[in-house]
Amino acid sequence: MLIEALSVFPEMFEPVMSTSILGRARRAGLFDFCAYDLRDWTHDRHRTVDDAPFGGGQGMLMKVTPIAEALESISAEGPRPHVVFFTPCGTPFTQSVAERLSHEERLLFVCGRYEGIDERAYAFADERLSIGDYVLTGGELAAMVVADAVVRLIPGALGDEMSNVDESFATGAGGGLLEYAQYTRPADFRGVEAPAVLLSGDHAKVAQWRRANAIERTCRWRPDLIATADLTPEERARAEALIEELHTGGQVVLCDDAETGTPTRAAAPEMSEVRHG
Ligand code: SAH
Repeated sequence: MLIEALSVFPEMFEPVMSTSILGRARRAGLFDFCAYDLRDWTHDRHRTVDDAPFGGGQGMLMKVTPIAEALESISAEGPRPHVVFFTPCGTPFTQSVAERLSHEERLLFVCGRYEGIDERAYAFADERLSIGDYVLTGGELAAMVVADAVVRLIPGALGDEMSNVDESFATGAGGGLLEYAQYTRPADFRGVEAPAVLLSGDHAKVAQWRRANAIERTCRWRPDLIATADLTPEERARAEALIEELHTGGQVVLCDDAETGTPTRAAAPEMSEVRHG
């Protein structure tokens, strides 16, 4: 896969794209990355990429002409890129969008700045993505968020091929939930014990606990995901009852756990996050 970014701050990308898993995947040839400076497609002495918006209003807008010329010249060689523009007005970026993008041969990200981009530039977009309902100063961080989520889905990028399977928002069979709670040594941290079942060595029981825990956590923190999660009829009935119990009349019935800072529910000890010694 080739990932490219068009930006007025191309230098922002390199540290992220060459560190940790992204860096390793890139050095292993699982993907390549290139950032282009939009100013290379300007023709004036000041290398101007922005101008005042027609109709007045605050701030500056990115001009359509440099973006159009840049996209035409970058796309002229190699396979046709899938062109993504970043904007708060785009489709929300989710794990399923990441999975879809991970099958593209070539991704070209267009990063806005200032008050955004002249609307006519979007004629070059295959899609517009937003990384959330908030406004950033530029599209570069959004592009890196998407690149990170996409690259870790490329087979081999994570090392352990199974790492993607059980994760939060996984789209496969049984997916669409938050991930279950995880624990490592010490088994007893200041009197807060890891769930005994996880230390039991009984793989079936562990799997059962994790499934129940993933459902419970999703009901607690992201009840909106339950509607589209892949649940059995029994799991769905239990989840709906739990949501009813946890979120009555829009109010979350939770008590703060003083020891862990984790909100825990007193009932149903077999499903609670932590056991207290
Ligand atoms: N005036 C615009 C915001 C411009 S922010 C509006 O109200 O919609 C400047 C640039 O930052 C945008 O062009 C876009 O590329 C990027 N950006 C800001 N917030 C973003 C978000 N939530 N998701 C993706 N890109 C974002």
